[in-house]
Amino acid sequence: MPLFTPADTSPEKAILVIYTGGTAGMAYNKSGELVPMKFEQIRKKMPELRQLNMQVDVLNLGPPIDSSNITVADWLALAALIRDNYARYDGFVVLHGTDTMAYSAAALSFLLENLGKTVVFTGAQVPVGRIRTDARRNLVTALEMAAACHPAGGAVRVPEVCVFFNELLIRGNRAKKVESQQYDAFRSENYPPLGRAGIELEFNDRQIRPLPAAPLCVHTHLDDRVTILRLFPGLTERMVRAQLEVDDLRGAVLETYGSGNAPTAPWFLNCLRDAADRGVCLLNVSQCEEGRVLQGRYETSAHLSGLGILGGDDITVEAAITKLMFVLGLNQAPEVTRRLLTQDLRGEITLI
Ligand code: ASP
Repeated sequence: MPLFTPADTSPEKAILVIYTGGTAGMAYNKSGELVPMKFEQIRKKMPELRQLNMQVDVLNLGPPIDSSNITVADWLALAALIRDNYARYDGFVVLHGTDTMAYSAAALSFLLENLGKTVVFTGAQVPVGRIRTDARRNLVTALEMAAACHPAGGAVRVPEVCVFFNELLIRGNRAKKVESQQYDAFRSENYPPLGRAGIELEFNDRQIRPLPAAPLCVHTHLDDRVTILRLFPGLTERMVRAQLEVDDLRGAVLETYGSGNAPTAPWFLNCLRDAADRGVCLLNVSQCEEGRVLQGRYETSAHLSGLGILGGDDITVEAAITKLMFVLGLNQAPEVTRRLLTQDLRGEITLI
């Protein structure tokens, strides 16, 4: 049952917080290492939760974890929790470690099709018990973002999976953790932020996806037979084959250079061809944080389309690997899989 945090006044909104762990709720153990603690740790340190004019309930996804330990099974459980509580709440906040938050937010964006409510991931760089913590501000603002409505008409303001951190509201599948020492841990890649929390909450309405016409559809499969092959000068055939010749591999993100460029050495092309012939879906994503893959712009990428490698446009690696898991999990015919991988499913790519 949810832990219940009653608002003092009659609440206007009901928000479900799903607690997974992360620094926000961590404390130091005897060896001086940060370890996740129960949500109770946060609740005690945040009396201001009672001042919000909303009902805030809390559910634990499981025992609290450092997000380095998040699994595909956790993502499916998270999606199922949202599905099971969808009708009861106006919005959702997922309290999550920052290390893998961008992967989790991207995965959830694919699993929650036709999302008509706000799902905000947030966390902190400094635990809630520390005097300079960012947990309190991030959580309070994430709750307000999750409850936000259009001033005229009252429709849900951000029907998306997003990340709120420091001051930015970012589409979940465009988020990237870029900082481990400062408070501004996340950046929005190749897409403007959806909102900003200054003195007032601001929303970039033109960038936010519209409310869906169809009801929520929560997917229940992700295929984890995928990998990420990151190129670097000096990469050898033995290493590439070790990664691409795994028996049941179904998909790989190829992290290429610049606008999607890769070596033209025959051994490398043969490795890719062999993988493609075995039915492995290869998605070309750039190592650059900004810009896009344009296969054919250079001679060093022109051959890739001929091998059946799909251009990932301006997708992040986090969104690419979770999109591969999602699309492969749909178990469609190869042409449909390829079409879905190149389509903009949840705002994760900008097609030109
Ligand atoms: N290692 C932590 C985690 O991802 C970092 C954080 O929460 O900021 O769980």
